[in-house]
Amino acid sequence: MTKKILFDLTDPELEKIITDMGQPRFRAKQIADWMRRGAPDFASMKNIPEKLRNDLDATMQTLPVRVIKKLKSADGQTTKFLMELNDGERIECVLMRTSYGNSVCVSSQAGCAMGCKFCASTLLGLKRNLTVNEIFAQILVAQWELRADNFADKPIRPNGDANNNDVSHIVIMGTGEPLQNTQNVIGFIERANRDMGIGWRRITVSTCGIVPGINELTGWGRPINLAISLHAPNDELRKKIMPIANKYSIGEIMDAAWRFTDLHNRQLMIEYILLGDADGNLLNATPECAEQLVDIVRGKNCMVNLIPWNAVAERDFTSPSGNAIHRFQDILIRAGVHTRIRRERGNDIGSACGQLRISEANK
Ligand code: SAH
Repeated sequence: MTKKILFDLTDPELEKIITDMGQPRFRAKQIADWMRRGAPDFASMKNIPEKLRNDLDATMQTLPVRVIKKLKSADGQTTKFLMELNDGERIECVLMRTSYGNSVCVSSQAGCAMGCKFCASTLLGLKRNLTVNEIFAQILVAQWELRADNFADKPIRPNGDANNNDVSHIVIMGTGEPLQNTQNVIGFIERANRDMGIGWRRITVSTCGIVPGINELTGWGRPINLAISLHAPNDELRKKIMPIANKYSIGEIMDAAWRFTDLHNRQLMIEYILLGDADGNLLNATPECAEQLVDIVRGKNCMVNLIPWNAVAERDFTSPSGNAIHRFQDILIRAGVHTRIRRERGNDIGSACGQLRISEANK
């Protein structure tokens, strides 16, 4: 039996259920408070009488996501969650404790329809869009985890500050293409800003380049960060690794992206995975590709994030050597382009891009 989800009820609906059970009204408020802090189950609600907790548990669950697997990296900085939705679909969410704060990478869809050749998230296709509540619940789970850390006896962050138990940054870079679920993603961001006080500038939407979706964000008008998963500096090569390139050209995508960032005077993030082919030959990581990439971003306010490819067993690519990566980056640096190589987090826990969901599905 699927349980009713407490999180999907309005305050008056919850109050009615509680008073119908013969309980005083203030219990509804206590329960709602626990829920907004991310309580994963009724058993965690310490000030609620046990009998009421058990009665509620028989027919309801607190959040629309249930953590079914939790993995923590050896350095303690990264926690990856595999979560199950009420209809049995699974998504991933990653909590990263960094020097600048606690960042959560959330999923916007169960699966993905984009078909990028290097990515694990799209291997089983798109199942469905996530609701606003399903996206929001992911950050509540992360928040709950951070609070739990705070009670642990050893400090988690080396330079831990007073706020080290709050989610401070959100990246919508988990499973799915956020701009295929734009309205729910916008609803989620509005809510994270309103209910958790997370500033627009600390929220990043990453897209493979859905032009109408980028324009929708521009029309919405909030100064969030935009990241474009470019991964190739010309349309011919991009079409080989990203089917979406058949629909939108790099020129169209970049025009839409610059319009967004110019409006808010923000820096655009460009994501660029460095790939070798199955035989180890550089694919999009040649010096010529670096020169073409320079032509795309020259004079613009942007940061090129070079991403070492996280190997996906089902995919036939290789990772270029450290030397090749640095050669590529040097060309950008010499042309005055801001660039960095993304630090790999949680490699030991399959924290990259749909790996956990796939490995569980294959079992
Ligand atoms: N669909 C959105 C957001 C999800 S993917 C997008 O395309 O931006 C988030 C980022 O991870 C994208 O830049 C994506 O290309 C990258 N990515 C996917 N698989 C990867 C892998 N195996 N190794 C490294 N990065 C990967």
